[in-house]
Amino acid sequence: MEKLSEIKCPKFGSPTTSILKQYQTIHNGARQLLICKDCSNCFSETSNTPMEKLKSPISKIASSLKLRSEGLGLRATGRVLRSNKCTIAEWEKLFANQKETLMLYGFCHQFVSLIFESDELYTVVGKRKEPMESEGWTGVIMDRASRFIVEQKCGKKDSSLFNNVMKTVCKYVDKTGDITFLSDGERRYGNTLFELCSTELRTGKVGRPSRTLPKGVKVRIKNKGNQNHKRGRKRPKYQAPQREHPDTEQNLPDSEIHANHVEAQNAAIRRRNSTFRRKTNTYAKTKEDLQRTLDVHQIIHNFVRPHWTTGKVLSVAIGIISKPLTLETILTMQKAA
Ligand SMILES: [Zn+2]
Repeated sequence: MEKLSEIKCPKFGSPTTSILKQYQTIHNGARQLLICKDCSNCFSETSNTPMEKLKSPISKIASSLKLRSEGLGLRATGRVLRSNKCTIAEWEKLFANQKETLMLYGFCHQFVSLIFESDELYTVVGKRKEPMESEGWTGVIMDRASRFIVEQKCGKKDSSLFNNVMKTVCKYVDKTGDITFLSDGERRYGNTLFELCSTELRTGKVGRPSRTLPKGVKVRIKNKGNQNHKRGRKRPKYQAPQREHPDTEQNLPDSEIHANHVEAQNAAIRRRNSTFRRKTNTYAKTKEDLQRTLDVHQIIHNFVRPHWTTGKVLSVAIGIISKPLTLETILTMQKAA
């Protein structure tokens, strides 16, 4: 599974490469120049990594990520490290771009069962607008047991936001036998999941086949509002709004659905991401700025920072990698083709 050290030729991805020579850099010590045995392409060990063409010391870039991930703003981080705030933002962008490569470890892993839950965060992007017009919504999907962040995407609270986060959830559906999606009331998550991955149920009967969620996939939506009407019947605590596959095991106890861990997590995001914390008028300048900080947060939360209660890094705890990654490792990792 893990072959972080294997360097592939950036041209066609060939893994058969050999070291041609070493060269010295001003701030980052010796580096290797490699040659591809298949296409004779010569390339540096940093090609196709965030460090490609960067001359700044990797330790300084890692420090900037560390300071930012503790909630320091761009300007303040720039002042501490004597760098321009635009440079800090560029480093962050390069690091954030590693999210796709890192999250592949999750998509490739075979889970026995997963319970995902969702929540929305809101911050101001650009000028203050009506909430429904704002691009400051963030949909967060998290694995309930481990707190591993499956996806977080920002934008207007519309169908493309729900599509963007649920597309990622779909990538877990194939490899996981048993997957439950819990929503605290927002129905669009379940509807979107159904649109994206429902399958035709073949019953052998004549007529149009009905569609269901894939086998093993459940959606549960918590009923909001008064649980006990004055005289009426007690409403069920949760609903299953999407048609489920008849072979899906119905093994989810009521108690599993209640506690909402994402809400506790949101407090941590607010503390650690300065765009959610500042009391100025503009929290993030653009949607892209906000997404960049969300991606950095997701990478560090999942792959680098030990969880404050267990002391374990989440992606190690759920078994998708064998040891925690350092910021330096991620900065020198080749992007997946
Ligand atoms: Zn090659």
